[in-house]
Amino acid sequence: MSFENQIIKTNYHTHMYLCRHATGTIADYVKQAIELGLTQIGFTDHAPWTELIDRSVRMSCEDYPIYIEELEEAIKKYSSKIKILKGVEIEYFKYKDSHYRHLMKDLDYMILGQHYIEMNRKLVSVYRIHTIKELTIYKNTLIEAMRTGFFKFIAHPDLFLFSQKKLSSEVLGLAEEIILAAKRFDIPLEVNANGIRKGMIEVEGEMIYRYPRKEFWELVKKHEAKVVISSDAHKPELLFDEAIIEAVDFCKTHNLTVEEELVFDS
Ligand SMILES: [Zn+2]
Ligand SMILES: [Zn+2]
Repeated sequence: MSFENQIIKTNYHTHMYLCRHATGTIADYVKQAIELGLTQIGFTDHAPWTELIDRSVRMSCEDYPIYIEELEEAIKKYSSKIKILKGVEIEYFKYKDSHYRHLMKDLDYMILGQHYIEMNRKLVSVYRIHTIKELTIYKNTLIEAMRTGFFKFIAHPDLFLFSQKKLSSEVLGLAEEIILAAKRFDIPLEVNANGIRKGMIEVEGEMIYRYPRKEFWELVKKHEAKVVISSDAHKPELLFDEAIIEAVDFCKTHNLTVEEELVFDS
C-alpha cells in the first residue's frame, strides 16, 4: 500500500517475526515507520511465557535476547530519525510479578493483551468466552492487571465481547467497570485496527466490528477515559493501511479523545 500518512504520528503496538505469525524484522518496521513520518514506534511482540501452551503464537524464551538485540541495534542505527521503544504485549496472570519485573529490566513498557482467562486452573481463550461467569473473570483480570501498574495501556480491552451478539445490560455493566477502572488508574484503552481488518458481523440487522465494539466505545466516551489507536501490525505495510484510517474515523464518530503521543520515563 502506498498512500501518504497524514493522520498518525505514532504506533505503540507492533509485532515482528519472532512471534511466528508476523513477518518482518525490527529494522523492516522501523524503515516503514520513518517513511510514514512517524515520530515514535513502539514494539510489543508477544512476550515469552514458559507455561503457555500456545508456543506457536509467541516468541520462545530463548528468542527473547534476539528480540532485545534487534531492538538495540535499530535504536543505534535509527535514533536520529525516530524514537524506538522496547515493549511486549503480554497477558496478566496472578503471582507472576517476578516474570514481569524480569522482562521490564530490558523494556520501556508492556501492554496488556489478555488473550486468555484462567478458569478452574485452566486457560480459556478470550475469543471463545461467552458466559457471564467467564466475562466477569475477564473483567476482574483486567482490573487487577491495571492495579499492578505494570501496563502502559490495555490492548483491545473489548476483545471479551468477541462472541457476543446483542449486549445485555449485565454485559454492558462489565464493560463499564473496565472503563471506570481505566479512568481511575489513568490507563488508556486501545482502539485496535487489527479488529477492523477482521471485518464486520451482523447484529440485529446492523453491520458492526467485533472489535472495536461500538457499544463499548460509547461507554468510553460517556466516562471520558483515555484512548490510544494502534495498528497491531503483524506486517510492516500494516503500520498504515485502510484499517488505520477507519480506526481514526471510528474515534471521530464516537468523539473519543485520542492520546497521540505517550510519555515514557526513560
Ligand atoms: Zn499477534
Ligand atoms: Zn498484538
